[in-house]
Amino acid sequence: QPDLGRKPGWLRVRSPSDPRVHEIKQILRSHELHTVCEEASCPNLGECFGGGTATFMILGEVCTRRCSFCDVATGRPAPPDPLEPAHLASAVADMGLEFAVITSVDRDDLTDGGAGQFAEVIRLLREQCPDTGVEILTPDFRGCEEEALTRLADHPPNVFNHNVETVPELYYTVRPSADYQRSLRLLRRFRDVVPDVPTKSGLMLGLGEELDQVRRVMADLRAHGVDILTLGQYLAPSGHHHPVRAYIHPDTFAQLKEEALGLGFLSVNAGPLVRSSYHAGDYIPPRPSP
Ligand code: SF4
Ligand code: SF4
Repeated sequence: QPDLGRKPGWLRVRSPSDPRVHEIKQILRSHELHTVCEEASCPNLGECFGGGTATFMILGEVCTRRCSFCDVATGRPAPPDPLEPAHLASAVADMGLEFAVITSVDRDDLTDGGAGQFAEVIRLLREQCPDTGVEILTPDFRGCEEEALTRLADHPPNVFNHNVETVPELYYTVRPSADYQRSLRLLRRFRDVVPDVPTKSGLMLGLGEELDQVRRVMADLRAHGVDILTLGQYLAPSGHHHPVRAYIHPDTFAQLKEEALGLGFLSVNAGPLVRSSYHAGDYIPPRPSP
């Protein structure tokens, strides 16, 4: 039985010292922009900012859902800011990022789930920083999937990411408003609609899942055409969130990575400190010829 009161050594990280980290933080401040990297005190910030990657949250900081692992506030969000896409694109251009990950809270209050704002961000990023790769990490667009996909197909990203987050057996306690099959369907439908863009998904481990349940999810993702997989360790944002049930050993992550590659994922990033957007820019595999 692991001692869950103490984090194992493999979860400790060095603090960043790269001058580019400081520069990016200054530009973020001058644009009054927030990144998931800073807000979530992500342990990889030094590495990611230093390597020219950052993750931006659009569509506000209030979510219409309440997941037991997540630190984002729940409530009634403000209407989308029509200036947000232009603002974000000019900030990314100033930062000279190689790769930008764009994500959002769930916006069940919007008729397109917020997909139009994602598409507008991508359109302006292409205009203002054509060399920057773009990954979008989206909600499940419950009830407006086809409308959302139509909007995204007009301005596709370089990678489409939607996380299943955990095994279906834990959805009831961890992701109560989500539906495992709906998430799988979204990944499949995106691939149908935009076949040239790789799809990606990920899970956090240590929420109480069994390894065989993880293996079944990996097989389901492959069966729905997902190309890229991330597996990382869940860390509870506070004592009020879903507790960490296990610290997964790095060797187990390595083993799961091997198995995932064996299933045919083109790229797998698995490890205790891996986050959905960790090294996002490194993992754009070429799509095999049909
Ligand atoms: Fe957090 Fe996303 Fe769940 Fe909202 S839907 S509570 S942002 S994980
Ligand atoms: Fe930001 Fe993702 Fe890197 Fe963390 S892993 S610093 S959230 S880009």
